Amino acid sequence: MESIPLAALEHVTYCRRQAAMIHVEATWADSVDTVRGDLVHKAVDLPGTKRRRGFISLRSLPVRSRRYGLHGICDLVEIEQHTATPVEYKVGPYRPGPADLQVAGQAVCLKEAGYQVPLGYVYSATDRRRHQVLITDSLLAAMAAAAADMRTLLRADKLPAARNDKRCRRCSLRDDCLPELTHTQTPRTADLFVPRPLGTWRD
Ligand code: SF4
Repeated sequence: MESIPLAALEHVTYCRRQAAMIHVEATWADSVDTVRGDLVHKAVDLPGTKRRRGFISLRSLPVRSRRYGLHGICDLVEIEQHTATPVEYKVGPYRPGPADLQVAGQAVCLKEAGYQVPLGYVYSATDRRRHQVLITDSLLAAMAAAAADMRTLLRADKLPAARNDKRCRRCSLRDDCLPELTHTQTPRTADLFVPRPLGTWRD
């Protein structure tokens, strides 16, 4: 089974076209959100270990699951005896969904390393707090379905159509994707003299 990056679980759930652009075409563009994300991750980007009274915190821990075909890096893993708790750092406000799948992917990797992983957290820098994510059977099934969908995209020879909905407004790949033109499988020819509408920015 092809191994896919843990981050792809979030991308493919957010937008299949975005996932294909990043993981198949190696397209990337920074935006204010991606730069903010990099700054938030600075707290956990440097690999390191802290020990305190039987409690171990591991930053930037590489993990892998052979069973689910996943690999990636956990921002932070807290270990107490035989229980591991992954903490995924995000810049935006927490909403249940794509980030939970990433935590579930980290959980199965840590389970394969021999730990019990009943829950994880998404830390939101906007909310300035952790949000608990229970590792349930339904979440694991959704995570496995997202991984299978990502594998389908890796094998496909064309990009999915754009969504062209409110998700596109803050997408850093918008200029490469051109969602107004590519939201059908038969894109209209771009009129290069007509300015595209600007997104609505909060910044
Ligand atoms: S601009 Fe929209 S359709 Fe295009 S990759 Fe981003 S979210 Fe997906």
